[in-house]
Amino acid sequence: MNETLAKWITESKRIVFFGGAGVSTESGIPDFRSVDGLYNQQYQYPPETILSHTFFMRRPEEFFRFYRNKMLFPNAEPNAAHVKLAQWEKEGRLTGVVTQNIDGLHQKAGSKKVFELHGSVLRNHCMRCGKFYDMEYVMNSTGVPRCDCGGTVKPDVVLYEEPLDDAVVADACTAIEQADMLIIGGTSLSVYPAAGLIDLYRGHRLVLVNKSATPRDSRADLIVRDPIGQAFSELP
Ligand code: NAD
Repeated sequence: MNETLAKWITESKRIVFFGGAGVSTESGIPDFRSVDGLYNQQYQYPPETILSHTFFMRRPEEFFRFYRNKMLFPNAEPNAAHVKLAQWEKEGRLTGVVTQNIDGLHQKAGSKKVFELHGSVLRNHCMRCGKFYDMEYVMNSTGVPRCDCGGTVKPDVVLYEEPLDDAVVADACTAIEQADMLIIGGTSLSVYPAAGLIDLYRGHRLVLVNKSATPRDSRADLIVRDPIGQAFSELP
C-alpha cells in the first residue's frame, strides 16, 4: 500500500477523482492507448475517425458495427477502483467523480456524483423525436438503430468534433476547484478539452495513478504506477 496516498485520503474531505478508460481495463473493457488498446488494433479507419460526428453522419452502418463490437460491454462489472470511489463518497470524503468513460460502471458501483464528460452508452435518443432507448435496444438492433418514428437512434456519447455538455462541465469545474485532493487515474490526459479541467485544481495533493507516463507527471505531488484497481483495493 502507498502510505502517503493512504494518509492523504484519510485526511481529506473533498476528494475529486478524475478518470479515464484505464479505470475500466480491470473490468475487461479495453482502453484506447495501451498496447492492447483499440488504437493498436487494425481497422480500416482509426477509432477517432470512426467515433467522429462526420463519420457517424456519413457512414452510420459502419459506425454502429464498430460501436456494437468495441464500445458496448453489457456484462462488465465494476472493479475495486469503482467500488472504493463509491465507498469514499458514502463516507463523505469524496465530492465527485469526473469521468471520460462512457460505460456507466461508476454508477453501477454505487457512485452518485458522477460527471460524465463524454456521455454514456446507457442512454440513447432518437435524433428526430427525442424518444429514449436503452443500451439493449441499440445492441440488439441491426444496421442503424431506428426509432418508431423512423428517426436514427443516436447514443448519448460525445463524439469527436462534438462539444461537451455545458452543465456537466460546469459541475465538474466546481468540484475540481473546491477539491482538497485531486486523484487522476487511468487516463493518458490526451483528450481535450476534458484533460484541461485538471488545471483548475490549485491544491498540493495532486495524485496520478497511471500505468504509463502522462504529459502532466511533472505537475503531480505523488505518482503511483500500479494498476488502479489493485492500488485502490489496498487503501482505507
Ligand atoms: P486512454 O486509452 O487514452 O489512456 C488510458 C490510460 O490508462 C493509459 O495511459 C494507460 O497506461 C492507463 N491504464 C490502463 N489500464 C490501467 C490500469 N489498470 N491502472 C492504471 N492505469 C491504467 O484513455 P483516456 O485518457 O480515457 O482517453 C480515451 C477516450 O476514450 C476517452 O475520451 C473515453 O471517453 C474513451 N473510452 C472510454 C472507455 C470506457 O468508457 N471504459 C473505453 C475506451 C475509451
